[in-house]
Amino acid sequence: MAEKTLFQKIADREIPADIVYEDDQCIAFRDINPQAPTHLLIVPRRPIPTLDDITEEDAPLIGHLFVVARRLAAQEGIAGGYRTVFNCGAAAGQSVFHLHLHLLGGRPMQWPPG
Ligand code: AMP
Repeated sequence: MAEKTLFQKIADREIPADIVYEDDQCIAFRDINPQAPTHLLIVPRRPIPTLDDITEEDAPLIGHLFVVARRLAAQEGIAGGYRTVFNCGAAAGQSVFHLHLHLLGGRPMQWPPG
């Protein structure tokens, strides 16, 4: 069996994290190095490495991650002013190769993100 990813270890409670939400498809927790007052990671339980690895069959799962993001944004009090980001690949800043959706908010956001 492949070694667990960092985020699988968090989901399995082998590594501590500030978990704010979980269901049968995904888990969400606070980023350890927050880039905004609210910075959550929404992570599918299945360890898909990057956005390049998703298929048509993953469409409901990816949609679910965004529905969870919308709910968590409301829960965090940032509805109407937040950003969601998938970094895909090292060149885009991906450092953990287990797909995750960043949810950032609580401060003004610049564009382009750099
Ligand atoms: P990315 O660079 O898009 O792959 O995002 C990975 C994110 O995971 C970064 O924002 C890190 O700060 C965050 N991170 C790394 N280790 C942990 C951890 N143990 N708990 C919570 N967040 C983490």
